[in-house]
Amino acid sequence: MRVLVVGGGGREHALVWKIKQSPLVKKIYAAPGNAGIAELAECVSIDAEAVDQLLAFARSEKIDLTVVGPEGPLAAGIVDRFEAAGLRIFGASRAAAAIEASKSFAKQMMNKYGVSTARGEVFGSIKKAEAYVKKVGAPVVVKADGLAAGKGVIVCDTVVKAVAALKQILVEKAFGDAGRQVVVEECLTGEEASFLAFTDGSTVLPLPTSQDHKPALDNDQGPNTGGMGAYSPAPVVDRHLHARIMKEVMEPIVRGMAAEGHPYKGVLYAGLMIDRDRIRVLEFNGRFGDPEAQPLLMRLKSDLVPIMQATIDGRLDQCRLEIDPRAAVCVVMAAGGYPGKYEKGEVIPGLDKVRRMKEVMVFHAGTAVKEKEVVTAGGRVLGVTALGDTVAAAIDKAYQAVNKISWQKVHFRKDIGQKALERLRV
Ligand code: ATP
Repeated sequence: MRVLVVGGGGREHALVWKIKQSPLVKKIYAAPGNAGIAELAECVSIDAEAVDQLLAFARSEKIDLTVVGPEGPLAAGIVDRFEAAGLRIFGASRAAAAIEASKSFAKQMMNKYGVSTARGEVFGSIKKAEAYVKKVGAPVVVKADGLAAGKGVIVCDTVVKAVAALKQILVEKAFGDAGRQVVVEECLTGEEASFLAFTDGSTVLPLPTSQDHKPALDNDQGPNTGGMGAYSPAPVVDRHLHARIMKEVMEPIVRGMAAEGHPYKGVLYAGLMIDRDRIRVLEFNGRFGDPEAQPLLMRLKSDLVPIMQATIDGRLDQCRLEIDPRAAVCVVMAAGGYPGKYEKGEVIPGLDKVRRMKEVMVFHAGTAVKEKEVVTAGGRVLGVTALGDTVAAAIDKAYQAVNKISWQKVHFRKDIGQKALERLRV
């Protein structure tokens, strides 16, 4: 089989790495890929959102399966376009991807199909939104309705900040069209967890649980990022909660999407807030999380390709996932300054030393090759991911590897996985 992976981050490197292990696959292309992906696949310089070019490429190269990593192309309708052209593609259709691309649509779906979420309202004008914020008071969360690369959610501890956030989104158009509407919702407390599953529109096949670390600094301080690290499993989700999440969140949404005429095929990701026995949905994503994909795919023992095929063909009821019982931890190494301004082009020493380590993978995100050396080329640069018999062992291993790699202005969190350890101690 000839496979095309769309995207060029750590998630896509993990996807390419996993797909490459399939005996069904002969050749992999990645668009646009990165320096790490280039060691496993042929990178083609087509932007992940250039749907016309991707379609032309898939046709001319006779691609048998296209796998979409990021949300942008899904929201732009890449799956609908490929399917209309008779090409096989793994991902959510444009209408299904709206569960992520429109927070107001997701809220509507959750309210209609009885999925518990934060109480909130949708507004298109500053006047009404401001009045609502003043009525409900702080803390309150202001969210741009559309896709904003993780930056469109502002948790406000005062009404003044919330009004400023509303202005930024609705008046100053800080997120462009993604901010035509806002969702204003109550601020939830608890512990977050990510719950991802394959679904073919009716069967839901859950992946192991995981947890992301959004804020840039240790102890969840600093601005939100695309994700500074992740671990799997997430002990906050015990067996009982797992069954409830399937029944109260995943299955109703998948049934609901089908009932609305937009069957959901692909990976469905629920971002959850768990407060003792209360499960509430913060958001849905229509694809693998990044960095959650890295530990999840390291734990997945099954061949990924037949699962993706079964998802496309509506045969997931015949599949089961074989999961490595060990834990996996991913520590993201970023460019200093990220998520604000940062430099590119720094040489990354130490990659060869880590290559010799067992059960460790360095997934590349923002990297490029310059004069035969791997250099930084983005905010999040590497996702150093390790397996271990326990979460503690996986954390140790991941940081051993991280400590072998260093460039001048590197930044990483030192506390990835600590929440899992704390919970396991209780
Ligand atoms: P974007 O839409 O800009 O791409 P995103 O989809 O990544 O952003 P969310 O995951 O919905 O944004 O929110 C980011 C973070 O904000 C969450 O991980 C959580 O920490 C926090 N958050 C979101 N909603 C709430 C809420 N209602 N209460 C408390 N915290 C929240």
